[in-house]
Amino acid sequence: MVPVAPWITTILRPGTGIPFLVTYSLHFITSPASHLSRKPIFALKTHSMKTSAILLLIFILFTSQVNKPSIHELISRQTDEIYDSLVQVRRYFHANPELAGKEAGTQQVIVQYLRKLGMEVDTSIYGHSVVGILHGSKPGRSIAWRADMDALPTEFADNNEFSSTIPGVQHACGHDVHMAIGLGIATILAKNKAVLPGTVYFIFQPEEETFKGAKNMIAHGLFSKIHPEELYGLHVTPFPAGQIMVKPGEMFAYQKGISIRLKNDVSEAAGSLLSKQIYEALSRRKPGARPWEIQHIIDTAAGLMNPGTMYKDYLIMDEHFRIFTDRTELVLESDLYETNKANLETIIPKITALINTTQFKDNLVSVSFTHGNPIVQNDTRLTNEAIKELNKIYGPGLMVPDYGQVPYFNDDFTYFQQKVPGVYFFLGGSNFQRKVIAMNHAPDFKVDESCIRVGIKTFSSLLVQRLIERN
Ligand SMILES: [Zn+2]
Ligand SMILES: [Zn+2]
Repeated sequence: MVPVAPWITTILRPGTGIPFLVTYSLHFITSPASHLSRKPIFALKTHSMKTSAILLLIFILFTSQVNKPSIHELISRQTDEIYDSLVQVRRYFHANPELAGKEAGTQQVIVQYLRKLGMEVDTSIYGHSVVGILHGSKPGRSIAWRADMDALPTEFADNNEFSSTIPGVQHACGHDVHMAIGLGIATILAKNKAVLPGTVYFIFQPEEETFKGAKNMIAHGLFSKIHPEELYGLHVTPFPAGQIMVKPGEMFAYQKGISIRLKNDVSEAAGSLLSKQIYEALSRRKPGARPWEIQHIIDTAAGLMNPGTMYKDYLIMDEHFRIFTDRTELVLESDLYETNKANLETIIPKITALINTTQFKDNLVSVSFTHGNPIVQNDTRLTNEAIKELNKIYGPGLMVPDYGQVPYFNDDFTYFQQKVPGVYFFLGGSNFQRKVIAMNHAPDFKVDESCIRVGIKTFSSLLVQRLIERN
């Protein structure tokens, strides 16, 4: 997850969200013996034997169905069996983090792991990417799962027992957890290969933090080699461990940079006053709300899960623009975060119109956007189907609705979604009682590893369900 702004400290709110499986018990009632009649004994016996045989057959069929665990119960059990080993895998990645573009050791571990599962592995696409290919036992549809691989340059202390052994580099965004979950899902699906139709692609993507990995994997022919019809992925977030959050459409705010150029010796002080005027005219938020304080996203009243969230409708700008001189022009710059795509088109005309009402009318050279990445866009149909299917499998309580858009962060998963309809989930990783806060890129970023179990179980179930049900 790529942030444009850093910091963030503690935030605490207890929460729940542990899924559970309902188990069934059934009682059998045997039917009473048939009444006697004057029919010949032999005929009566034949009839009775036939009935008994049929009843017995029904009983066997029924009990075999009842006693046979569903595929999702099996996945749940298998996840419990592999969980500890995946925690070790996560800790290995955590202790040996690698920056974007340097994920060679990480790549090697993933390749070996997938090969042991019997998968076809392709490392030729781009950089340190790995694509694992799992063929089911019969023809069917194709689905992809994506996990990102890179760590961050950071000087924050790493207070885990299995802390980073590389000075200045740390998995402080949770990609170590993503890789462990990705490998866990690969393990579960490989175990159940015999009943799986279709093909599953496991995309391990490097260079997420620099926003280059996904774009370059595509540019180097990823989707001419593999042809998934659907794509899924997740990111660890500061919500309670195991809670899963998703919505159709935008998960983040639109992000742009704005640049205003003024000629003929406008002073910095005058530029500063003008930028304040622009800030006041354009920035927008719920009365009293401070959506730029990202720690409130997990707040039950003002956060993403509340329909009245402050993160639903806002335009965040810098209160103080960056002001500098470029040759003979004064330049005013700000980043901005807007929840509504349609509003983006109005920003430049609004700023231009505002400046035209001021004494700087004749100084204005240009107003333009300087940058802006596409943002994660969840496919509406696939998102709604995923919510429905996961609620059906694991019961309500696992999935938490999302009503807002997170400012500052984004994910280059969006480039994959431009090619293949896909869904990007938030997976909670905090344990507030234990002071474990999974606030990405923040000091003392920590993850409650129980979210690895939930991630593997839930998304193995989702992929299996998509392949089996849609076959
Ligand atoms: Zn990230
Ligand atoms: Zn990140």
